Amino acid sequence: MRLTAYGSAAEDAVEAAASYIENMDALMSTGLETSEIAQLNATGTMMLSADSAAVMQRAIEICHDTDGAFNPLMYPVMEAWGFPSKEYRVPMQDELEELLTLTDISQVQFHEADGQVSFGIDGMKADLGGIAKGYTSSQIKEIFNSFGVTSGLVTLGGNVQAVGSKTDGSPWRVAVQNPESEGEYLGVLEVSDKAVITSGGYERYFEEDGKKYHHIMDPDSGYPAENGLTSVTIVSEDGTLADALSTALFVMGLENASDYWQEHSQQFDAVFLTETGTILVTEGIEDIFSSGYAWTVIEKES
Ligand code: ADP
Ligand code: MG
Repeated sequence: MRLTAYGSAAEDAVEAAASYIENMDALMSTGLETSEIAQLNATGTMMLSADSAAVMQRAIEICHDTDGAFNPLMYPVMEAWGFPSKEYRVPMQDELEELLTLTDISQVQFHEADGQVSFGIDGMKADLGGIAKGYTSSQIKEIFNSFGVTSGLVTLGGNVQAVGSKTDGSPWRVAVQNPESEGEYLGVLEVSDKAVITSGGYERYFEEDGKKYHHIMDPDSGYPAENGLTSVTIVSEDGTLADALSTALFVMGLENASDYWQEHSQQFDAVFLTETGTILVTEGIEDIFSSGYAWTVIEKES
């Protein structure tokens, strides 16, 4: 993580943000036995505190909105592939099919009022890894603002949240990573007060028999999503949404992702990199994106 803040209370703001991040990790980490999510996964029921409840609520909502492409219940499948333990393996198809019965979002009972969550089937497990960082960085923006910090930048594992603009009033310049070659970038986005969040199969994967298996699962098959995209970058004022949609639109593939953007273009924009190396940028960020590569604009259909 990397926290940058300007202003007279900048140091205090960064300190508060750092302890907020630690706290969120302690609440939501699947790998930490004492976390609320780990306790939920162990027992099938849990009273979540405000932050975890807020993330859970958005996760369920976005699962419905994306027709299940974003699914916060993929943990049993992640375990079968060995991602949490790093003891990687390729599961059998019937094993995956069995586990997919545990990812049915209608089997989650969630009471927004008190954060009470319960699973309807034994063995169901939540995983907020595809959304928690976006929520956390958007909350840090609020923390910064509460310290009077109106200029800053938050980077959490490649997820960027701009707080205000640079101190000279010009927008932050955020590089979009090029998965093909580390250190180089696909392009630059000029943003103020927005989240820029990228998901791609290149971030975390293992190899077996010459084939790469990455960590973003297609909830329809239980296999790593392979729908023609190498990476998806989401730009939005809503950092929580941006994180979840970077995962969801990667799963959807270009055609469904473009359709989804057409329906929700008020809420976000996107940069797509396809497996064949094409860069596509949605219309809303056409003017703030620049790149040394050729790129195409996805226009709004009237
Ligand atoms: P990263 O966390 O590496 O930046 P993502 O935001 O795309 O990348 O989140 C990937 C993580 O989300 C996985 O490691 C896993 O914990 C979880 N996950 C995997 N597949 C899905 C999915 N289809 N929907 C929601 N979460 C998922
Ligand atoms: Mg994500």
